[in-house]
This record gives sequence, structure tokens and C-alpha cells, in this order.
Amino acid sequence: MCGIVAAIGIPNAVGVVLDGLASLEYRGYDSAGVAWPENGALRIVRAAGRVSELKSKVETCDTTTPETAMGHTRWATHGPPLERNAHPHVSADGRISVVHNGIIDNYATLKERLTKKGVSFKSDTDTEIVANLVAEQFTGDLLQAVEATLPLLDGTYALVVMSPQCPDMLIVARKSSPLAIGLGDGFTLAASDAVPLIPHTRKVVFLEDGQVAALTAGRCEVRRDGQAVPCIPAEITWSAEAAMKNGYPHYMLKEIHEQPVTLEAMFRNRLRLPRTDDADPEFMLDGLENLSDDYFRGVSRIVLLAQGTAYHACMVGRNLLERTTHIPAYPEYAADFRYRDPILDPSVLVIAVTQSGETMDTLHAVRLAREAGCNVLAVVNVVGSSIAREADGVFYLNCGPEIGVASTKAFTAMIAGLYFLALRLGQVRGTINRQELLRRARDLLGVGARLNGILASDPYIRAIANRYRNAANFLFLGRGTGWPLALEGALKLKEVSYIHAEGYDAAEMKHGPIALVDENMPVLFIALQGRRYDKIIGNIQEVRARKGKIIAIASHDDREIDKLADDVIYIRADSGIMNSICCAVPLQLLAYHIATARGCDVDKPKNLAKSVTVE
Ligand code: GLU
Repeated sequence: MCGIVAAIGIPNAVGVVLDGLASLEYRGYDSAGVAWPENGALRIVRAAGRVSELKSKVETCDTTTPETAMGHTRWATHGPPLERNAHPHVSADGRISVVHNGIIDNYATLKERLTKKGVSFKSDTDTEIVANLVAEQFTGDLLQAVEATLPLLDGTYALVVMSPQCPDMLIVARKSSPLAIGLGDGFTLAASDAVPLIPHTRKVVFLEDGQVAALTAGRCEVRRDGQAVPCIPAEITWSAEAAMKNGYPHYMLKEIHEQPVTLEAMFRNRLRLPRTDDADPEFMLDGLENLSDDYFRGVSRIVLLAQGTAYHACMVGRNLLERTTHIPAYPEYAADFRYRDPILDPSVLVIAVTQSGETMDTLHAVRLAREAGCNVLAVVNVVGSSIAREADGVFYLNCGPEIGVASTKAFTAMIAGLYFLALRLGQVRGTINRQELLRRARDLLGVGARLNGILASDPYIRAIANRYRNAANFLFLGRGTGWPLALEGALKLKEVSYIHAEGYDAAEMKHGPIALVDENMPVLFIALQGRRYDKIIGNIQEVRARKGKIIAIASHDDREIDKLADDVIYIRADSGIMNSICCAVPLQLLAYHIATARGCDVDKPKNLAKSVTVE
């Protein structure tokens, strides 16, 4: 995910692009860059960090004349967020420049071919090969060169291509990454969404997958498969803020609804099923080159380090890891771990889980583990973050920037990521048979589609939320992996609605929390069918006997539970990974709707920060 802005035929094009990039920073903000044609060549300015760093650098340049420019704010997928990896990227011959949002899956093969031809590369990105491929095809017709290049690319892209030899034209193309074109009076703009366009024009064409367009001042010619297609602009009526949230009232809700896509994207390049069932699935891990299969075979214990929501993901991860790898696994609060003189040796694998990769307690615990000779594997969302850099291997969650302070999409991505690692380790260690491996790999690949079904019941969950909006307290109970889910459900509700909520292992109920149950206490049970179902039903009966209000998250084919519960949220989930991930979604939606019904600012809850970089 990243932000792209381009402009042609507009005075102060560089300023327009920079302002547009600033409004797209919610899409990515690890480095940024801008390019414009100058004296028959390209002028490129790039900076690591936020768009404001780039703006300060550009201030030293004379940008009054160019009426064409393009820029990018990056969310790194290939290569750390350094200036040399910031876009725009330029072909080795200097004739073509590109900004890109997405991932070119076959970049390694293409890079190898170009390298053999003598092309030298300056960045670690997948994007730089696109500039060089277009340059290879370019004989003066930029549109034709881009059209000849696109069929060579596997993966996803929104692209803007610029050449100093065609200063009055920009070429844009799209496959699975968004691109909007704004048509003004004598000028044309393009951007990753409509937000940067709105201050200049409300006439917008949303490019479709497979389309390419040639932009000139005030004009846009759209093509597909080499043929012109009609280009009819829509009139945008939303405000810029609404556009940034993609039509959702809050980032939290937008991010909850993004989960099917983020989970699918996580495995798109990493998990390959065999053609027939007599071969293993392939688990591809590009950040783990320092950790060999031999090393994984010798691991004696796994320690999972995290705080907050990530800790709950680790509790789920522990069950998955132990079952799949037969290695004992222990989730630990990083803050406590570092002060406890933990017993470590080099056979202990430490897995540090954090969305931001900057959580201070986790960072210090990682350093302690490394000093003790342990290998550290980071499960992180933000590319190039401190923990990602200091770890021996990284599994990136690739779920795009998470802006809502209460973590949602990163939580499910963490569970899915840990499961992926568990399957890979189990495969290496021979602790999971092929049939099982295939079944679970298919589960992972199917999880996004399952979530769509749950998200469709959002209005129903909202109606339930409305009935409990005035509760002063809440209990969340579950067993097995339902326990960390109960903890996470309670945490979400506390964070965004300020209702006092507690999560417990339902087995603990009789040891204390049951004293709180009366007719004013809503109790949410995670009551999916499985090994512990009968025990959970027993706990539900106990709450019912004390007149507590019962909300149950239950399996879609449970015919009994509505006789016991006041409200039931049915979900279709029938395997370990599905259950954890699928349960998380109604918990998130419930917290969100209760909080908004109470008028709370869910994206910025009081007293909370998105990444906790203090101890
Ligand atoms: N894959 C490209 C990179 O890592 C683009 C990432 C993005 O969409 O920001 O530079």
C-alpha cells in the first residue's frame, strides 16, 4: 500500500503533487519522492521518512516552472525504507521513471534477466525493474512501451510512467491497486484515491483493472488490450476526509472490513498449493534466510514476546505452534520478561510480535534474548521498523498502515502469520503429515472468503450492540483459543467504549468472576463447537441461573444455543485457524458499534497511542 499522485498541465505541479502526497500519508509514510522534467532530463528528489522531510528538501529547488510532476509516499514491501528505495525509480539509462503501488511477484526472475543484459540496479525494490523493462521497449512512443511491458508483469500495480522525452504525457496503468484520474480545465491529475484530486476537480475517472491511460493536459485516453475504451468521469460529492476512509465513517471500521483482503494478500506470494495431493504445499519465507532448516530442527523451546493485542495473538499462536511443531511454546509479556532474568539458551527461538515494530518493551526484550544467544524472528507489520531491523529473521504482515488506534486487521494478520510459521516449522521438523499440512494450508487460503460472510452480518451485530450500549460492565469468556479471543474482545471494548470489561478463561469463572454476575451483567461467550463445547454450555447455564445477559458467538449449525442465549452471533468456522480469526471479527464489530452508539471517538480513544514507544 502506498500513495501515488501525478499532475500534468497545472501550474506549480510539484506543489500540487506534494500536497496530494501529504493527504495520502494514511496509505504509507516510510519514505517519499517526487520527479519532474527539467531541461530535457528528469529531476528527482527523494527522502526517507514523512512527506514533510521531502517538502523541506524540495524547498531548495526551483519548482516554479514545471507543469508536470509525479510523486509517491511509500509503504515498503521490497527493501527497507531508505532513500535509495524511495520512489520514483529510474531506468539505468535515465529515460524512464516510475512510481508504483503494489508488488511485482516475478521481479526476481525479471531482474536476473535484466542483470545478465548488463542493467545495473540501485535499489532493492521490485519497482525498479518496471522502469528498466519500459526503457527496454521504449523507442519514442511511451504508451506503446508501457503496453508492451505490462504483460510481462505478474502481481499487482498502479503505475505512473514519465519520460523526459515525452514531457507532455504521463502513462498510468492499473491491476488490483487503485488509481483515480481527475479531469480539470486544461489539466489532468492521477492519484491512489480521490482525496488529492478533490481540491482541484470533482470530475473523476476510476481506472479499472487491466486499463492503461495516456494523460495529457486536460485529457485522458483510456485503453484496454490496445483498444480505446470510453472514459466517462463521475462527479465526486464526498468530502476529502470521507474519501480517505473509503466511505467508512471511521478507520477502525474500514480496517475491520479490510481483513479479507489483507489476509488474502499475506499469502498470495507465500503459500503455493501443489497441483496434486501427493506433494507438499510450499511455504515461502523471504525474510528468514538467516534461519536454516537445521536450526529450526534443533529448536528446544519457543518464547513469544508481545504486549497488548499482539500478546493475545501470541496466546493463540502458542496453541498452533505446539500442536503443529511439538515444540513447547510460551507467550510472555515482553515488559515482564526483560526484568525477570529469563532462562534462555541458543536453542530457544524467540518470536517477537508487534504491529509497529517499535514497541519499546518488546524491543528491549528482543535485545536481551539476542544477547543470550537466541535467534529472534520478528512478526511485524511496519517494514524497516526497529524490531524488524534487529531481528535475525522477519515475517512481514503486509496488511498496510493501521490507523485506528485499536488494532484490528493486524491482530488477525498476526494469528494467520503465526499459523503460517507453525506450518512451515512443522513441515521442516516432520511433525505434521502431508494430508494435514494440505488441509491447513487450504484453510489459510480460504480464510479471507470466510470473513466476507461474517462481515455481511455487520448490521445484525450493530443491532445487538445497541441493546448493550448502556452496560457499565462486561464479561467475555472462552476456553482453549476462545480464551485469548475473550481477552481481546474485552480489550477492544474497553479501548474504544470505555466500558469496564474483563476477559477470562471460562474455566476460571467459578474462581471469582461469577460473583459479579447479575441481571445487569452482559456475558459474551465464545461457544463454538469443539472439544470444550459442553463445558462452555455448562458455564452458560451457570450465568443464566444468575440472570446474567448472554451473548454467544456460536457455530452456524448449532441448533441448541439460542435456547440459552439472549443473543447469538452465528459464524461459519470449522477449524482452529478459522475459529480464532473468524471470532475476532464479530468481537471487533461489537466493540466498534457499542462505542459509536455511546458517541466515543473510536479512532482516537483517550489516553492511548498507536505504538507504545515508551516503557
Ligand atoms: N513494492 C514497492 C516497494 O516496496 C511498492 C510498495 C508500495 O506499494 O508502497 O517499493
